[in-house]
Amino acid sequence: MIEEHEAKFVIPIIQPRQQEQPSRLRVFKPKIDLKKCEKNYNCVVSCPHAAISVKPDGFPVIDYDLCTGCLICLRECPTFAITEEHEHRVPKV
Ligand code: SF4
Repeated sequence: MIEEHEAKFVIPIIQPRQQEQPSRLRVFKPKIDLKKCEKNYNCVVSCPHAAISVKPDGFPVIDYDLCTGCLICLRECPTFAITEEHEHRVPKV
C-alpha cells in the first residue's frame, strides 16, 4: 500500500451532484379541467414521464413529482381539458 507522502498524484474525488428532481425545473404545469375531460386518455399515453395515471373514477390525475412541464399532454388533449399555469415557487435562499 502506498503511503500518502509517497503518492505522486492526488486524484480528487468528485462527488456526483445531487440529482435534481425534474419537477424542480418546471416553469409551467398542466392542470386538468375534469368538466371538459372525456376520458380518451391521450394524455396518459402521451406523457413521456408516466406522470399521468387514471383514478378509480376513470379520470386522469397528474403526479406533479414526476411531471416536468413539457406540456405534451396539453397538446394531445382533443377537448382542451388541459391548460397550463405558471409555476409559482419561492426561491431557496
Ligand atoms: S406536462 Fe409533460 S410530463 Fe407533465 S404530465 Fe404533461 S406530458 Fe407528462
